[in-house]
Amino acid sequence: MKKAGIVGLPNSGKSTFFNAITDQNVPAEEYPFCTIEPNNGVLTVVDERVNKLAQMEGSQKIIYPFIQIVDIAGLVKGASHGEGLGNQFLDHISKVDLILHVVRCFKIDDVSHPMGDVDPERDIEIVETELILKDLETIEKRMAKISKQAKSGDIDSRNELIFLQRLKEHLESGKLSVMFERNESESKIIDSLFLLTEKPVIYIANVDEWGIDRELNKKVERVAKNKGFSFLAINARLEYELRQMEKDEAKEFLEAYGFEKFIKERLFEEIKKSLRLICFLTATKNEARSWVVPENSSAYEAAGLIHTDIQKGFARAEVISFNELINFSCMKEAKEAGAIKAHGKDYLIKEGDVVHFLFHS
Ligand code: GDP
Repeated sequence: MKKAGIVGLPNSGKSTFFNAITDQNVPAEEYPFCTIEPNNGVLTVVDERVNKLAQMEGSQKIIYPFIQIVDIAGLVKGASHGEGLGNQFLDHISKVDLILHVVRCFKIDDVSHPMGDVDPERDIEIVETELILKDLETIEKRMAKISKQAKSGDIDSRNELIFLQRLKEHLESGKLSVMFERNESESKIIDSLFLLTEKPVIYIANVDEWGIDRELNKKVERVAKNKGFSFLAINARLEYELRQMEKDEAKEFLEAYGFEKFIKERLFEEIKKSLRLICFLTATKNEARSWVVPENSSAYEAAGLIHTDIQKGFARAEVISFNELINFSCMKEAKEAGAIKAHGKDYLIKEGDVVHFLFHS
C-alpha cells in the first residue's frame, strides 16, 4: 500500500491539512496496514464506480480506494544535525513513497512563523536542505565503505566512487537527487542508497483567505515547475472547516473561494499521477471495492494485494472494463454475453478493470 508523508515547517498548516484530508474514523480492519496513531490516517475518495458495482451485484459493503497518510511533524532548521526531532523525523520520511510538502503562503499575525516572516521559496529551501544534508551523509558513508576496495584496484568500486563524487557535488550545489541525470547502471546505484531527495514531491501551497491567485502561491508553482514536481494550491483551514458542514453547503463555500473540487479529490488524483497508480475494481455479494495498484501491475501481483491465498492458488482472472460492464445489468449477464475475458497471471491490469480472481484453495 502506498504511503504519503506530510512535511513542512512548524505552523505551515500540516496538522490542519492532515485533518482536512484524512478520515480518522474509518474502520481499522479495512486498512490493516495502517497503524492507527494520531499522526496516521487514510485519504479515501468516493469512487462512483464502486457505488454502481455494489448496486449491480447487491454488495453489502463498499470500500473506496485509499492512500495512507502520515503527518511527519518536527522539521526545523538543523534537523539533519539532530535539532528538533532530528533524525527521527528523517527516518519517517525514508518510509514514505511520496512527500506532500506543505508551504505556508498565508499571512496572519496571530500564527507565528518560525523564521519571522512568510517567504515560500526560502521555506522550501530550508526543508529541502535538511533532506539534502541527510542524503549527503548517506552518500559519504557509502563512499567511505567502498574506498578501500577502490584503492586496492577493484574497478566496479572505483567507478562507483567516481559516480558518487559527481552525485555528491550535485547535491552540494543545493539540487535534489531526483534531478540528477543518470544512465541505467547509475540508476541502480542511486536506488540502492534510498535517498530522501529521490522521492516525488507534491508542493501544497497553503494559501490565505483571499483566494488562489495571490503572488505567494505562484512562487511555489514556479519552484514545482522547475523541479518537475506537482503543485496544489489549497486553503487548509477552510477545507478543514468545510468538513464539518453538509456536502452541498460545503461545495458552495468552496466554489465561492475559487476552488472547483475538494482537496481530497484533487490530491488523490495528483498522488495517482505522481506515483503512477491506477484503480481496479472487485465486486462480490459481500463487498464492492476499488484497489490502488501501480501502473503495469500484473493480475498475479494484483491478486496478492487482495489475499496471499488468491495469489498462491491463482488460476485465472476474469476481466471486463467498468465502462463496458455498465452496458449490462450485472456481472452474470455480462459473462453470459461473453463480454468477460479470462486472462493468465501476466495480464496487465488497467484503470477501471473489474476483476474476478479464480484460484485453487
Ligand atoms: P503545523 O504546525 O504545520 O502542523 O500547523 P497547524 O496545522 O497546527 O497550523 C498552525 C496554525 O495556522 C493554526 O492556528 C491553524 O488554524 C492556522 N492555519 C492553518 N492553515 C491555515 C490557512 O490555510 N489559513 C489560515 N489563515 N490559517 C491557517
